Amino acid sequence: MIKFFPNFPEIFAVMSLRGDGNMKINYCGRKKRSTNGNRRNFFKRNGISEDTVISALLDHGNKAVVISGNSSRYIEKADALLTGDCGIYLSITVADCYPIMFYDPVAREIALAHAGWQGAVSGVVSSTMIKMILRGCDPRNIRAEVGPGICQKHLEFSRSDLLKLKQYNNPQYYSDLSQEKVLVDLKKIIGDQLAAHGISGKNIAFSRECTFCHPEKYFSYRRDGKNSEGQVNAMVVISGMKENKVKEKGRLILAEKECLSFA
Ligand SMILES: [Zn+2]
Repeated sequence: MIKFFPNFPEIFAVMSLRGDGNMKINYCGRKKRSTNGNRRNFFKRNGISEDTVISALLDHGNKAVVISGNSSRYIEKADALLTGDCGIYLSITVADCYPIMFYDPVAREIALAHAGWQGAVSGVVSSTMIKMILRGCDPRNIRAEVGPGICQKHLEFSRSDLLKLKQYNNPQYYSDLSQEKVLVDLKKIIGDQLAAHGISGKNIAFSRECTFCHPEKYFSYRRDGKNSEGQVNAMVVISGMKENKVKEKGRLILAEKECLSFA
């Protein structure tokens, strides 16, 4: 398991590893829940009740959805989730796409975005930042951590597909591999987007690891393809502001407002 935001103990943000098992949602629309037991076990091992995890049913687009206590646990066609509530854990799955965790420690707002090249080009970073700002966040206070994802060496594109990169169809975002192929630097695209929205370089942290480069640690869609059930094996990323549990007269109560006291 990888932990993010080590300097902010009030945040619980982690990513599972390959050894934790496939965390793909297996969403059952009829039952409105996931049938994947690995997820339940992972949450349980981390002391998180499954009922407090809100999962994005990803679409490789740019929709960012604000979550509150009464949101449904699965959010359709969303690639970013935001919340200002403590004790709610936002979640996405990744297998080469980059997880981006946002935290504004002053406004006490978090967000979690899923950015593969399609989501990044379609503006998932932008839509997340705009919603955070509308909710009172200041880009100068926002910290962003970008977890492991696919490195440039492994993100091959046909030259004929470069148009799909829209404004990032620019030699500063790819290098030549052969006459037909180029290698796209998705990390640079994301880094430039975060900076363009006013997040200071010192507040942006990137994982150095590539999911494709490390088969012992990560699943990778580009490397492994689909599994025998026609599914993509993936890791789960969870991010939330912890609920402060306080004992009162021997009884454990959850003090939602108290989560501010972590500061
Ligand atoms: Zn790699």
